[in-house]
Amino acid sequence: KLHNTILELKGNIRVFCRVRPLLPADSSNGEASVISFPTSAESFGRGINLIQNGQKHQFVFDKMFSHESSQQEVFVEISQLVQSALDGYKVCIFAYGQTGSGKTYTMMGKTDSSEQKGLIPRSLEQIFQSSQSLSCQGWKYKMQASMLEIYNETIHDLLSTNRASGADKSNAGKTYTINHDASGNTYVSDLTIVDVSTIKEVSSLLHQAAQSRSVGKTRMNEQSSRSHMVFTLRISGFNESTEQQVQGVLNLIDLAGSERLSKSESTGSTLRETQAINKSLSSLSDVIFSLAKKEDHVPFRNSKLTYLLQPCLGGNSKTLMFVNISPDPSSTGESLCSLRFAARVN
Ligand code: ADP
Ligand code: MG
Repeated sequence: KLHNTILELKGNIRVFCRVRPLLPADSSNGEASVISFPTSAESFGRGINLIQNGQKHQFVFDKMFSHESSQQEVFVEISQLVQSALDGYKVCIFAYGQTGSGKTYTMMGKTDSSEQKGLIPRSLEQIFQSSQSLSCQGWKYKMQASMLEIYNETIHDLLSTNRASGADKSNAGKTYTINHDASGNTYVSDLTIVDVSTIKEVSSLLHQAAQSRSVGKTRMNEQSSRSHMVFTLRISGFNESTEQQVQGVLNLIDLAGSERLSKSESTGSTLRETQAINKSLSSLSDVIFSLAKKEDHVPFRNSKLTYLLQPCLGGNSKTLMFVNISPDPSSTGESLCSLRFAARVN
């Protein structure tokens, strides 16, 4: 079965697929690989074949990254998209896939390694460099960063200093209500917003957010696979000689794991979480699908995630979804679900 990509129909939505390398911890016992990449001219560099129970499923996306693709090779393919946020576009880049498929590696990577750092640090470096070189043309930029997590349809501030110091309770009473103004700006009440202008400042923020995510270790580590992490950089540009103004937004989103927890394990709070994750992931696909089909009613309000990102998903915006795939043969079922999800939004 061939799920083909028809570029002209998709408007501003692109889908890139990335397969991570096989890791020592994977269960493969020398089993034959279930993933291969077509070499035909029409799908070379864009296609993936997955074999399940002897049946071959073929998918074609806008771009395919194999286990051999480096963080730099991936970044090169998104750098123009990142750049467009400086030109005033609203950009969203998502990582979708089951837990362990490489979403966080793709988005954040190993922040202390120049080779393995991910899209978030690379994008910010590029934005700061470009904004500096544009200053000789009269451009002045103001950048603001925020970082939040949506867990069980509830927003958590990852940059709240109280939280980073372990005083989780001091966030009690904060409402984190999402509001959009008439010009398409999003405000989340009580959310920490930090002015940033150097890569050093941002590095310390990313570090703080990582600390914040690991506070109350067991609980938060488990949560991280069940929560959506949204990094937002708001860019306001003003040209002193032409008086031109631009307002761009860059959203980089590490989605919750897409796996369905087995029914027997899902009771009580786990069941509630699973439902919340499925709700926001299916709402996201409904929204993207409905935007691609240019439907009049787009169901943004069905989840916190889609409501938060509403101004950045419709209209004059650019969206890219990474579908992350594990090559582990024991993940074939989940991989097929992820590829089908991506083929639907593609
Ligand atoms: P997820 O966030 O989807 O749960 P991770 O990003 O944590 O998955 O990746 C799972 C493991 O695989 C981590 O140990 C990560 O370092 C490793 N990994 C993921 N993608 C790659 C890659 N492209 N190259 C090398 N290691 C990777
Ligand atoms: Mg992760």
